[in-house]
Amino acid sequence: MDTMNQTEPARKKNGKPLRPGSRARFLLCSDLDRTLIPNGLQPESPRARPLLRGLVRKAAVCLVYVTGRNQALVEEAIAQYQLPWPDAVIGDVGTRIWSTLDGKWSAWQQWEDLIARQWPPDAPDRIAAEAKKIGGIRRQPEDRQSRFKQSYTCGLADLDAHCAGLRSRLSDCGLEVNIIGSIDEVTDQGLIDVLPGAATKQSAIEMVMSAWGFHHWNTICAGDSGNDLPFLTSALQAVLVANATDRVRQRAVSLAAQQGQSANLYIARGGFWGMNGNYSAGVLEGMAHYVPQIRNMLE
Ligand SMILES: [Mg+2]
Repeated sequence: MDTMNQTEPARKKNGKPLRPGSRARFLLCSDLDRTLIPNGLQPESPRARPLLRGLVRKAAVCLVYVTGRNQALVEEAIAQYQLPWPDAVIGDVGTRIWSTLDGKWSAWQQWEDLIARQWPPDAPDRIAAEAKKIGGIRRQPEDRQSRFKQSYTCGLADLDAHCAGLRSRLSDCGLEVNIIGSIDEVTDQGLIDVLPGAATKQSAIEMVMSAWGFHHWNTICAGDSGNDLPFLTSALQAVLVANATDRVRQRAVSLAAQQGQSANLYIARGGFWGMNGNYSAGVLEGMAHYVPQIRNMLE
């Protein structure tokens, strides 16, 4: 397997966004909160983010952030945590894709057209009506809602039951949705995102791979939590950072095994370049696992 084979830059055709950074040898699609951003309970190795920034500066990586954040919150995170500027952002838990060339955000209309097929204009109202019927689910503030993402919170103990209940109610009224349950470690609450059936972080990553001519062998994904599990346990080369909770780690291992994808799941454990494997250190460790030559690029 020649993982360093240079891929020709894709030309703009069929309205697809032009692939940035023709020198980029591989695609890194990484979650932000508690994956690249050290905003969990565990410590960050001080060298981790500077090393990642250096790697991106050398243009060896085409960088895509895959996050539940919206545009404003992604920009806030980049500034606050001095993260490298990405080539694209998959935001709102996979419901939006933006190219971010030269600091300008431009939405991928073809992605929105695709996911809108399963999401009638009155979908948010129908979801709100069904959610109201389930006691214990609260709607998140309006700045967390978007056309294709309706978000709720609930008690942690009821998270799985509420996700299943809402899915079943919406299916009964003819709405095919993708429901993502995750845990807010900071507030210890359950988070529920209701999205169009076709909108997942994974399907959005595959859209970027296809549009920009990347393949499974030169794409690496990284994450830490429940809404990252579908892509962490898929055929994509994936990295689970060391700061993930035991619950997420166990689910990732068992889901990957069930799907015959254990070889495509790397669990960071620390020790790479003397770092602890948390956050960016774990992402770098995983990248070096799949692409050993990355070590030379870090030097
Ligand atoms: Mg996360």
